[in-house]
Amino acid sequence: MKNGNYTRREFIKRQSMGGLGAVLATGVAPTLFANSAKVSETPAVLGGPPVRTKGWSRWPIWEPAADEKQVLAVLRSGVWSRAAVVSEFEKKWAATIGAKRCLAVVNGTNALITSLKQLDIGGGDEVIVTPYTWIATVQAILQTGAMPVFADVDPETFQIDPEQVAAKITPRTRAILPVHILGLPADMVRIMQIARKHNLVVVEDCCQAWLAEINHKKVGTFGNAGCFSFQNSKNITTGEGGAIVSDDEKFMDRCYSYHNFGRQAGAAIGGVTGSPCIMLGTKLRFTEYQAAIGLAQLQRLEEQTATRVENAAYLRSKIKEIPGILPYRLYDNVTRAVFHLFPFRYQKEQFQGLSRAAFLEALKAEGIPCSEGYTSDLNKSLYLKDAFQSKNFRLMYPKEMLDFDSYVERNRCPKNDQLCEEAVWLSQNMLLGTKSDMDDIAAAIEKIHRAAGKIRAQTSQKA
Ligand SMILES: *Cc1c(COP(=O)(O)O)cnc(C)c1O
Repeated sequence: MKNGNYTRREFIKRQSMGGLGAVLATGVAPTLFANSAKVSETPAVLGGPPVRTKGWSRWPIWEPAADEKQVLAVLRSGVWSRAAVVSEFEKKWAATIGAKRCLAVVNGTNALITSLKQLDIGGGDEVIVTPYTWIATVQAILQTGAMPVFADVDPETFQIDPEQVAAKITPRTRAILPVHILGLPADMVRIMQIARKHNLVVVEDCCQAWLAEINHKKVGTFGNAGCFSFQNSKNITTGEGGAIVSDDEKFMDRCYSYHNFGRQAGAAIGGVTGSPCIMLGTKLRFTEYQAAIGLAQLQRLEEQTATRVENAAYLRSKIKEIPGILPYRLYDNVTRAVFHLFPFRYQKEQFQGLSRAAFLEALKAEGIPCSEGYTSDLNKSLYLKDAFQSKNFRLMYPKEMLDFDSYVERNRCPKNDQLCEEAVWLSQNMLLGTKSDMDDIAAAIEKIHRAAGKIRAQTSQKA
């Protein structure tokens, strides 16, 4: 507990007095005292009053009156396994993204695994991927038996750098797995050019990018397949859940069969019993109650996305002039980024050497939740070594390819290492608020910027 022994009320009282003293001492114009909580220059991390004491939008959002009717009907029907409601959700998701077909599955991770496998990616193949992603992306590649090959990022956009992708192509390369990380589109136009030139399969990881667009076309419709997640934290959620979209009917029939014990897809949706097993499969079926929750959530996705987009643009404009704060850049052809996270890079040199960790602490103390984002170990940590030591990998690759140390050396991504040192994230639910909420975020960052030297001096003594 940061506030020590004081009650919160006492704490605020004491600290705002302290804050006043500090303001007087630094000679800020007295006209600013009209709103003393706002103008106190003492950082909350040093005991001053925080910029914000209000909370943020809860997540997920659930409105009983609007959302529970269909969920209750499903529960009371006793039809809980895949049936008509899942099909309805799939039709709506395909239409929302602008793809011919959709298959709902248990989660985004298995949407990726299914897509890669049904595009015939497996043992002996290399799949090019970004190191700046959630671990599921890379685990999915390994689960197929394919070898992840890391291409470095463009730190300004936080996305995989197409030039680095091109540089990583070898005779074994079979696929590119671009991730629209944080909800900001990757450079799909360039990536598709590279894929066509080298005859590569492309699976888009859209697990953070529902409704994001390039040239008014939704991400997930550029490659052979697009994969989505509906996990609890995501901008549309069913607790757990995922989906594959594609225009390729034959591929989608295979995905359907694979997710249902290899049974023939037939009409592609609907009937789950009685049809023969025609291929190797597993079981990844979505449930009726998940689909009912998804349909409820889907109704507000567009409006929530529009709010996030508007608030993100406003916040970006407010913080972009603060020295040492470098907000994301979007590629020129991006017509919509959807902000699963709002990212910027933090440069401590512009904050009198205040470390990112100390900056994050200070920002949290001001009432602004934030995080450092991904760590830089995705292309060098032990899960890779474990996969390389597995029986299947030993059968599928020459020994040299499985030497962990040389793998790590070949897959170094220095720009990603740097990005992971500098990134700061704000979560999507914070963007569901008002302009004045965004003002609080900007005010807190500005306050910390002004007080950076003081914070550094006083918190480093604690450490
Ligand atoms: C969430 C996520 C996944 C995995 O989705 P799950 O539904 O959690 O399995 C994959 N890739 C990225 C980039 C994600 O954010």
